[in-house]
Amino acid sequence: MLFIKDLEVKNKKVFLRVDFNVPLDENKNIQDDTRIRAVLPTIQYLAEQGAMIVAASHLGRPKGKFVPELSLKPVAEKLAALLPQEVILAPGVTGERVTHLKRSLTPDRLLLLENLRFDPGEKENDSCFAQHLAEEIDCYVNDAFGVCHRAHASVVAITQYVPKAAAGFLLKKEIDYLNKAFRSPEKPYVAILGGAKVSEKIPVIENLLNKADTILIGGAMAYTFLKAKGEPVGGSKVEDDKIETARHILDTAEKAGVRLELPLDHVAAREISQEAETKILKHFDPDSDWKGLDIGPETQKLYAEASASAKTIFWNGPMGVFEVDQFAQGTIAVGKAVASSNALSIVGGGDSVSAVFKAGVQDGISHISTGGGASLEYLANETLPGIEALSES
Ligand code: AMP
Repeated sequence: MLFIKDLEVKNKKVFLRVDFNVPLDENKNIQDDTRIRAVLPTIQYLAEQGAMIVAASHLGRPKGKFVPELSLKPVAEKLAALLPQEVILAPGVTGERVTHLKRSLTPDRLLLLENLRFDPGEKENDSCFAQHLAEEIDCYVNDAFGVCHRAHASVVAITQYVPKAAAGFLLKKEIDYLNKAFRSPEKPYVAILGGAKVSEKIPVIENLLNKADTILIGGAMAYTFLKAKGEPVGGSKVEDDKIETARHILDTAEKAGVRLELPLDHVAAREISQEAETKILKHFDPDSDWKGLDIGPETQKLYAEASASAKTIFWNGPMGVFEVDQFAQGTIAVGKAVASSNALSIVGGGDSVSAVFKAGVQDGISHISTGGGASLEYLANETLPGIEALSES
């Protein structure tokens, strides 16, 4: 793919697709500005080269209409505090006034368009909307890895209406790390998968069966696999329509010589709450209503040992209901094990990333991906619509 450094941007207007989808509190204060800071190298580079930047992002789910609470105003203010150039927030996404602002833009100012998802054309990958986005634009840079798995107008359709479309520094860094974990992983390669649903992770697991040496499974999805093996799982969360698929994955792993581990013990409770009574179970009574809500201490030890000998680790999805402290220990233990290994470690997915920060082990992780869904889809398909849409280098 074409890289930002391959573009001639002096005195050019560059449409910069970023992911400023930051968490806001009820007073519209930004709770975590990591996503804004992550794009600063690209903005600084473009400014140094004398480019004029038109930045655009989505924020939340306004569902195709103007929602004042989802305005990018707090982001514009934050950007203005971080950058030397003046930041102007456009009064909309497209339209005459926005076109005028684009036309009169100078290199000492950055124009931030309003929330792209205020327009229904964004999610529909609408060509007419994309054409409007591309008005007055000379080239396009995508630095929004987190949305590259979505065929949206500012990610895919717009690239039809600009002469050149390139990847920014953040997007390139994400792809380079994922390629290391995917195309040429140093062995042993350990993949750790958790979270709620097997269904969302099937394509990734199928692909990992050709690449990984060990797959460690935790979270609710482990119970669909345990049920597929004929083990009672009490009241644990199971996707009954995926049991056949889980059985097939277990068979394939065995034939391919991939070590696929499931929890040996569980932190169980009757309800998900901080006050719930808990116990460590190795086996569930078939008729019991106890649910597995975290991996138990024996499993934590097994998964930590497997991670310690790895040279490459990819981790996506929590090992339990980590939002509740009682059921967070398994995820924290895995986070610590991944961070203390000598492996090249990549963590993707909002929940696993929160768990890494909760465990305070972020410094021990080689790469924390800004896109959970995008990293999973990249690992499943080896490409993403937003990457396909970029010009070839
Ligand atoms: P995902 O988005 O697929 O990564 O799933 C994350 C969600 O899975 C989190 O909200 C967790 O609370 C939930 N989760 C993890 N383990 C379990 C479990 N054993 N039972 C129910 N929910 C779980």
